Amino acid sequence: MTVGVVWFRRDLRLTDNPALHAALHECDRVIPVYLHAPDEEAPWSPGAASRWWLHHSLEALRQSLRDAGSDLVIRQGPSLPALRDLIAETGARQVYWNRLYEPAVQARDAGIDAALTRTGIICRHFNASLLREPNEIQTKSGGPYRVFTPFWQTYLRQAQFDSPLAPRRLPSLPATVRSEPLSVLDLLPRIRWDQGLAHAWQPGEGGAWRQLQQFVAEQMQDYPGQRDLPARPGTSRLSAHLHFGEISPRQIWHAVQSETRHPAQAGLLQAGEAWLRQLVWREFGVHLLHHFPHTAQQPLDPRFERFPWRRHYRADLRRWQRGETGIPLVDAGMRELWHTGWMHNRVRMIAASFLTKNLLIPWQEGAQWFWDTLVDADLANNTLGWQWTAGCGADAAPYFRIFNPISQGKRFDPTGDYIKTWLPELSALPAPWVHEPWKAPATVLQEANITLDHYPQPIVDLAATRARALDAWADIRATRSRNAD
Ligand code: FAD
Repeated sequence: MTVGVVWFRRDLRLTDNPALHAALHECDRVIPVYLHAPDEEAPWSPGAASRWWLHHSLEALRQSLRDAGSDLVIRQGPSLPALRDLIAETGARQVYWNRLYEPAVQARDAGIDAALTRTGIICRHFNASLLREPNEIQTKSGGPYRVFTPFWQTYLRQAQFDSPLAPRRLPSLPATVRSEPLSVLDLLPRIRWDQGLAHAWQPGEGGAWRQLQQFVAEQMQDYPGQRDLPARPGTSRLSAHLHFGEISPRQIWHAVQSETRHPAQAGLLQAGEAWLRQLVWREFGVHLLHHFPHTAQQPLDPRFERFPWRRHYRADLRRWQRGETGIPLVDAGMRELWHTGWMHNRVRMIAASFLTKNLLIPWQEGAQWFWDTLVDADLANNTLGWQWTAGCGADAAPYFRIFNPISQGKRFDPTGDYIKTWLPELSALPAPWVHEPWKAPATVLQEANITLDHYPQPIVDLAATRARALDAWADIRATRSRNAD
């Protein structure tokens, strides 16, 4: 009898799971296991919101495995000895997993592969989380891409992706294989701040699939017009499901293809393409982190190593984290993040721009906060988003383009509904004053029957801090030209 271990990591699904599929094809007995070893991902062990998601996603996976005839074995790491124990207990000769691409995890996996192979165990690994892996794509001159549009065009040119793999029934798990209870992993917060998350999300493969189907059938057609409006449910909210591998990009690509094959509405094809383009930004982030692994902590553009960030900024950082900067759109975003573990993409860009440019606080501080608070925290995409906004990454926003959070608010949240949802202290204020409450005339405040005692004045002057950021940028550019001379 051949026995294979399937090591689940961030591929927490039964459908379109190549490692599981291969094991079921090649082995008589399959042992599904999750090994908890957060230290092996250091310094990027999952943050608090990610741990919350992981707990519920593992619960859902365990239930799916039970429904399919098996179960989930949960063990604590370190991974190599835990795998060795499981191999010894079950007589397994093969170990299957799906690849991950963060530098620390890749190094860990390569070590495990080598160590197990030396003892005669066959390790088989697969791509389950990308349409194209980082090494499959290169520029004409043979290097990694640094610009998104040509990267995306390679996807359009080679847009044939295999059909997703169907789920199958699993052989039962031998009763002798011991599992730890999920609670032992201690993933849930001890002080229960997670009610907002529980209200907003349904982690697990079932929740991901429902979300995908509903989005593709009902919202995708409006994506180009709605995706930048944070008050609307205009985006798919699939990022955390994708991060934990509860759904695959291949499933998404095929769902869009089948919906747009015979489009019922005009513009559906373009809308589908606009959405898939965003999905490929996710792959661009993985491509960049794989080829430039230092960028999780250092700027891709080396000029920014000399950027004159402020040194004493703790109090302002705290105000930003708490959504108490006095800039309504930024504060609304930061409170949405704290409450739900997610923030709309446009607001992420604005909040990140405010931190790095108006407050002149290093982008790494913002990335760290997002890492701890986002349910979709993903090393590649968080790095991409922060370096893009700070202006020091690949294909980045030019540094001199500094978002004005007031005009962005008026443009993308014209009625102020988004701001009012997250800042109830401003909910009675009519637009446009809700975007700059400090300018609201006394008569407007009287009519709305509010005082602004509970909402802070802006902690910085937007125009003056914009000018300061531009000076700082001119400084590092000048250093470069002097060096070049
Ligand atoms: P949709 O608009 O429905 O897009 C579909 C999918 O495409 C998303 O689920 C996501 O996987 C991918 N995607 C969309 N936009 C982007 C983008 N700009 N960059 C990369 N992938 C994208 N995304 C993360 O998944 N994890 C992060 O940690 C993360 N941190 C970010 C930090 C900053 C400062 C910024 C500006 C962006 C960050 N993003 C991150 C990208 C983006 O904000 C989210 O992916 C998006 O908001 C998720 O919402 P959605 O699923 O509704 O997206």
